[in-house]
Amino acid sequence: MEKFDVIIIGAGAAGLFCAAQAGQRGKRVLLLDNGKKAGRKILMSGGGRCNFTNLHTEPAAYLSQNPHFCKSALARYTQWDFIDLVNRHGIAWHEKTLGQLFCDDSAQQIVDLLLKECEIGKVTLRLRSEVLSVSRDEAGYTLELNGSVAQAEKLVIASGGLSMPGLGATPFGYKIAGQFGLTVFPTRAGLVPFTLHKPLLEQLKTLSGVAVPSLMSAEDGTIFKEALLFTHRGLSGPAVLQLSSYWQPGEFVTINLSPERDLGDFINQERKAHPNQSLKNTLAKVLPRRLVECLQLLSSVPECTLKQLNSRQQGELVEALHRWRVQPNGTEGYRTAEVTLGGVDTSVLSSKTMEARDVPGLYFIGEVVDVTGWLGGYNFQWAWSSAWACAQAL
Ligand code: FAD
Repeated sequence: MEKFDVIIIGAGAAGLFCAAQAGQRGKRVLLLDNGKKAGRKILMSGGGRCNFTNLHTEPAAYLSQNPHFCKSALARYTQWDFIDLVNRHGIAWHEKTLGQLFCDDSAQQIVDLLLKECEIGKVTLRLRSEVLSVSRDEAGYTLELNGSVAQAEKLVIASGGLSMPGLGATPFGYKIAGQFGLTVFPTRAGLVPFTLHKPLLEQLKTLSGVAVPSLMSAEDGTIFKEALLFTHRGLSGPAVLQLSSYWQPGEFVTINLSPERDLGDFINQERKAHPNQSLKNTLAKVLPRRLVECLQLLSSVPECTLKQLNSRQQGELVEALHRWRVQPNGTEGYRTAEVTLGGVDTSVLSSKTMEARDVPGLYFIGEVVDVTGWLGGYNFQWAWSSAWACAQAL
């Protein structure tokens, strides 16, 4: 039997960072992953450039049954700490939008950074490793692996959520939590595109590929002002991904397709200047033409000149564009979701160390925990912060 101080399951963002930190603090660490590569989601992230943190990271950007839980870890290992690490590794980066930081070159640089840090910490990394069973006695945790047995005083679960099974996601972490009597909140896909009911999808099909700035609101009042993208399956783009984390099946979302310009005022001004201009050409000055054509078909307002447009028709059109109410059919689910909402109940964990209060030596970090960030680097920052907090306690 091989003995270690700590075994960490999951060589994703949280597991790699925790292993490196614990190793550098002198712990003998075994890091296990079922995949053939470490950090597979990192490699896929940010369109291959990894949006590794967000300048505006703050607890309000995270969803959890206990919104206070993430505060301690985020305050102790901040976005500035990770940026400092990225700088020390000489990785060039840039801010894209809304505080989102990306590598200039490739997400591989973040994986290399983490592997280098693991190397400094003398971490034993074992890929293609299946954990067949986990048991606990006075000596700590014993893991039956494919072909060997390993034991450690402390066990860290960093196996992530259910999103993107194609990248190795499994319910392993939730099962271990259940095995040790810890509560796991129901999970659902987050940061995921909406699908639409067939008739609406059919009506919108000419819009596939069209992107517009938007202001989207959920029934609980949450609002995001970001781009909306029409797809052949439904609605996507940053605004939709963000809002999907706040949406429940059956609910409506309200979309303002012209958040920067009051279209009623715009039409009035245009009417004064060009009364014989067609409605279509007027709206196409400020909205994508394909969107205008499609929405005219959807509304009962016929094509006409501005002087022919009566106030009821104008009101109807403006309402449709500023307050378009859509009831999504569902989401694309874990197959394309960037994150998993829900997970291990934070009330059973210490927010300082991530250790299960009633199961000494058992820790949960990263996405497996019921803490989910917005789109834009917030989820990786939670992985780094929770991993760092845990590593200090190992
Ligand atoms: P993961 O990174 O998912 O790592 C879990 C690891 O555990 C995996 O390597 C998995 O193979 C392993 N594992 C699972 N089950 C087992 C098992 N039974 N045995 C052994 N190993 C197991 N967030 C951002 O902040 N910025 C982004 O740009 C961004 N882009 C994303 C793009 C995509 C396509 C996706 C899917 C997600 C993106 N995210 C992004 C979210 C981010 O990737 C996750 O929040 C983050 O990776 C969570 O880290 P983690 O270590 O908790 O889990």
